[in-house]
Amino acid sequence: MNNEIEGSRKQKIKFYENLRSKDGKIQPRWNSTCLDTDKISKIRKKLLEMSDNACAFCGVRIDNKSFDVEHFLPKDGDKKNEGFPYLAYCWENYLPSCETCNQNHKGTFIPQSLKNQAIIEDILQTKFPQAQVYHQQSLLNSTTDRIIEPCFDNPDEHLAFIAEFFSYQPITEIGRLTNQMFFNHKEVAQKWETLSNFIKKLVANYPNAQELVNDYINLHGYEFICKKLLEYWQNEKQAGRINR
Ligand SMILES: [Zn+2]
Repeated sequence: MNNEIEGSRKQKIKFYENLRSKDGKIQPRWNSTCLDTDKISKIRKKLLEMSDNACAFCGVRIDNKSFDVEHFLPKDGDKKNEGFPYLAYCWENYLPSCETCNQNHKGTFIPQSLKNQAIIEDILQTKFPQAQVYHQQSLLNSTTDRIIEPCFDNPDEHLAFIAEFFSYQPITEIGRLTNQMFFNHKEVAQKWETLSNFIKKLVANYPNAQELVNDYINLHGYEFICKKLLEYWQNEKQAGRINR
């Protein structure tokens, strides 16, 4: 076991030594190494399993073909800031994300307080003695100008879903930034309004509404929002405030 761990440690250091391909891009080894018998990366499979096949940010149903391995601290920077290339292969920095959340909403977001800091995986310590070693817990605990990290944070502490308005109400600064980034968009509000009307109709017209909502979740995801909307419309029905 120790030999195996040592072996993979050495291999990972080699990956970092050959971080970029000829075009300068970081090699996406999270997709192309640790392949299972079906040629799908075990890293991707584990991320899907961990999130119950849902985008870690918006909750939409994802499968191997339709998701990105998202780097919470972005591997690439932008014109003004360097990213965190030496966290490119760090497991704790990975999240399963739908393409919309990763590419359209989050992009290369870097908390202001971490901009242009050199943060590296612990295995690279001897190579970069000046850099800060990544410890997820202490880093996330001390950073308040960031978005929710769904594996680390309890989203309920940062965001409250208000079913009446099909939107989130931020509770903390972390919640505010998360809401602004992923949910405070016209198309998201429209999607949730449609979903709310759909669930309202199910609750008003079908005694097995809960089962039907579960079927919807199995197909499309959005478990959190669907359950909140279901609870809301069930209460409205009980109070006699629902029209068919
Ligand atoms: Zn998403």
